[in-house]
Amino acid sequence: MTSEFDLIKKYFARASLQADLGVGDDAALFRVSTGHQLAVSTDMLVAGTHFFHDAAPFDIGWKSLAVNVSDMAAMGAQPRWATLAIALPEVNENWLKEFSHGFFACAEQFNVDLIGGDTTRGALNICVTIMGEVPTNQALTRSGAHSEDDIWASGYLGSAAAGLAHLQGKIKLENDVLEASINALHRPVPRVELGLALRNIANSAIDISDGLAADLGHILDASDVGAEIFLAQIPCLPALKANIHAGFEAYILSGGDDYELCFTAPPAVRGQIETLSKALDLPLARIGKTCATKGLRVYDAGNRLVRLQTKGYDHFA
Ligand code: ADP
Ligand code: MG
Repeated sequence: MTSEFDLIKKYFARASLQADLGVGDDAALFRVSTGHQLAVSTDMLVAGTHFFHDAAPFDIGWKSLAVNVSDMAAMGAQPRWATLAIALPEVNENWLKEFSHGFFACAEQFNVDLIGGDTTRGALNICVTIMGEVPTNQALTRSGAHSEDDIWASGYLGSAAAGLAHLQGKIKLENDVLEASINALHRPVPRVELGLALRNIANSAIDISDGLAADLGHILDASDVGAEIFLAQIPCLPALKANIHAGFEAYILSGGDDYELCFTAPPAVRGQIETLSKALDLPLARIGKTCATKGLRVYDAGNRLVRLQTKGYDHFA
């Protein structure tokens, strides 16, 4: 029988490069750099709700950290430390091996140290807390947007939702679009470099986890402004529109799990953002602007108002 402590040692204890004391004691110890604030965020992934029970364990490991790293990106924080609380229905060593490989692949890519956690028996459930740092008073928040700001989005929207719909048998994607969509769903890439670079450029930001309309809505609420956005300007996989035909806008506007950033900035910094897009080799699209009239209005290519069906994912709606 493998004990809880053997499992921790085998799969989760790694040398900690950014902490004074990592996995193995009653608490971890680390120092926040002088002149910085600690940024902390937690995201839980529940089997059956956030991923299929039979999803590849590598992907579950990657995604459970990636969605947390994405919250650091949205704050303009440098991700540094994480804890992992995991409930497992049984000891499946192969599952654990793959899961930890996925988790640490993401940790290595984004320089995050796993410094502690908890391992218990129970329905499969993964809860990660991420900690990062940001120079004092430079974090990007949801409340900093002003009226007449540009609204921007990174990457392609709707891909993860399309991938999920395909797996659920609701639509049929083919070839390149299928691969890109499934990849977007299972291996989201948090936009850390973008978040760090936006500290001195953007005045508000959020990561798109529940869909553009819902998440932009949080910026609008927190900043007490409204917005107009233009469907034709929102980037999505070129083949997505063609592939899904009618109703594709629901994926772009209300599809969750993309983990791209939506942010606002004054028109004066457009050039800087375009330069940044080239430097990061990441599409950054100006999708609309904020205004004094409250609420979110979306216009299609013919300048007709688009009706928003579902606003985004809400666990209790
Ligand atoms: P305690 O009983 O004192 O809370 P535990 O026995 O739960 O400690 O954990 C032993 C050590 O292993 C602690 O340092 C804890 O942070 C770490 N740990 C437990 N589970 C995990 C995990 N899934 N990932 C990383 N570290 C873990
Ligand atoms: Mg414990």
